[in-house]
Amino acid sequence: MRAVVFASEGTLVLEDRPEPKPGFKEVLIETAAVGICGTDAHVFDGEFEGTVFPLVPGHEATGTVVALGEGCDTSINKLAVGDHVAINPSTVCGECEFCLNGKNNLCRSWNGLGVVASDGASQERFVAPLANVFKLKPDTDLHLAALIEPLACSIRGWDQLPRRMGDHVLVYGAGTMGLLMAQLAPYAGAASVTVVDVNEGRLQVAADVGIQHRYTNADDADRDLWDVVIDCTGNVKAIEDGLKRLKPGASFQHFGVAATDAVAQYAPFRVYRDELSIGGSMAVLNSFGRAVEMFEAGAIKAAPMVSHSFSLDDYSDALTMFRAGTGRKLQIRPNDSESKVLL
Ligand SMILES: [Zn+2]
Ligand SMILES: [Zn+2]
Repeated sequence: MRAVVFASEGTLVLEDRPEPKPGFKEVLIETAAVGICGTDAHVFDGEFEGTVFPLVPGHEATGTVVALGEGCDTSINKLAVGDHVAINPSTVCGECEFCLNGKNNLCRSWNGLGVVASDGASQERFVAPLANVFKLKPDTDLHLAALIEPLACSIRGWDQLPRRMGDHVLVYGAGTMGLLMAQLAPYAGAASVTVVDVNEGRLQVAADVGIQHRYTNADDADRDLWDVVIDCTGNVKAIEDGLKRLKPGASFQHFGVAATDAVAQYAPFRVYRDELSIGGSMAVLNSFGRAVEMFEAGAIKAAPMVSHSFSLDDYSDALTMFRAGTGRKLQIRPNDSESKVLL
């Protein structure tokens, strides 16, 4: 069985590995699609805190159940061989202060499949804990469904935001996360959604998924201030720009991943005087099941978001293309022999 392996920081190899075996309450899954995101680039560069090499990357995955380990038959999660599934990559200790207080995304021993110490899905087949495997309807598009993982992060983002019905929402960044946050805004009660991205090409994707207000600079928008501003870039310039565009009483969310040493400036007096809320959102918390349901209900336009699929042989090309910022969502399809342009 073939697998992409990050052998060490900055080193990628293709390996032939023995077939993985599912252990107690574990599921063996044949990979259909794995999305590539900024986290994979950070992991490859050795910038993700806690990563243990060698590691098979890939945390935004879907697939088909091939085998069930012991104990799966007695579980209330009735899974069967042949089921189509999406995988929540987060595994937690269940013992630390944060796990015990309902905030397991902040677990002190947080481990993500393909991110920290457990192998991910950029291989022909992989093993996941039963509790992380979510069954999909047989007619759900198994490739596009790899967007369910980032969608689950986005639903968690909206869970975290102080907001009211009728809010005007401004999103920075028209990459996958920005477009998902923007598409969820109407479900969170937004009266309008504006997306800003310096890259015109990405604004075209925003148009394709139905975002009406799109600008390369928020100065050109039809309003000056917003009730909710969400940064999906992690870029300090965008963050500082967004913080200036909050109405009194508004909320700002750090949703994009900034560099660990990045520092942004804001005026504390304004945060006090205007009662601004500034918060963050990290990964998935009790939102994966809702993401499955919303995806299957057609809450997001997924097809315009996925532009290329890559075979395992072409993994490094996918990483290069991701870094160049060209294309839309890129996927690895480990059981396809050829890479394809989808849009
Ligand atoms: Zn991701
Ligand atoms: Zn924990």
